[in-house]
Amino acid sequence: MKIISDVHKLQHICLDLRSQGKKIALVPTMGYFHEGHLSLMRWARQNCEQLIVSLFVNPTQFAPNEDLEAYPRDLDRDKKLAQKEKVDILFTPKPEALYLPGHCTWVEVPDLAQNLCAKARPTHFRGVATIVCKLFNLTLPHLAVFGQKDWQQLTIIKRMVKDLNLPIEVVGRPIVREPDGLAMSSRNTYLTPAERKQASFIYKGLLMAQTMVKQTHVQAETIKNALKEFYKKNLPSGKIDYIELVHPEQLTPVSLIDQPTLLAVAIFLGHARLIDNIVLRV
Ligand code: AMP
Repeated sequence: MKIISDVHKLQHICLDLRSQGKKIALVPTMGYFHEGHLSLMRWARQNCEQLIVSLFVNPTQFAPNEDLEAYPRDLDRDKKLAQKEKVDILFTPKPEALYLPGHCTWVEVPDLAQNLCAKARPTHFRGVATIVCKLFNLTLPHLAVFGQKDWQQLTIIKRMVKDLNLPIEVVGRPIVREPDGLAMSSRNTYLTPAERKQASFIYKGLLMAQTMVKQTHVQAETIKNALKEFYKKNLPSGKIDYIELVHPEQLTPVSLIDQPTLLAVAIFLGHARLIDNIVLRV
């Protein structure tokens, strides 16, 4: 496995790979790998000839009051895990190599960055779309693999690729969970043991909503209220950021659940803000 931090060297290698006709897959990450990340790498490994994983804690997707400094990092461990997954190139750039002085060009997908996480993090998706676009230009992938855990991010990237005619297939892969249902996340390390126990109820609440929907066509408001009660009882240390029911692609609010609907939640718990989602099927 090559470990490359130089932006020009990476681009040069990828141009070369493209000209040799190699099928390239990119898995963008912020590192501190868990099974969720590794599942993306495994799927990509099966579907490409050259697997590139980027490991970059992108400063422009963090607001000044967020956890950029505290974000967990362990490059040595990540290198070993990536090697085990037979990654060909691990790209580990420094922020100053990707954002040169005077950087002022942004990629925005405003229609999809209005609700859900964008409300609490209004500049987040601009940072995400911009860095992913830059990574696409550097690595020239045929395939780019993302997790459905960050559903809004995945939807925004798909839209960006379509709108900008980027010749890239964007693949979304299922959420990998801990045995008790908690969606894996690098930020789970922020939780105390007591918070960690409560955190498993985030997904249990989503499953409860799925059961409600299976029985009858339900109003979104009914599900929201039931979930609020469920979280109040089972996640007493949590503070709900949002509980939203939206169209899975347009991300617009849905009032009656009579077609597949994305139920997405974000909960502040201790020092963490945890997100999760499920597509409710009638
Ligand atoms: P991150 O390092 O958190 O930015 O995540 C990098 C990629 O891994 C993104 O596409 C995420 O959606 C994906 N990812 C993170 N957690 C999970 C998970 N539990 N299951 C599947 N994919 C995940």
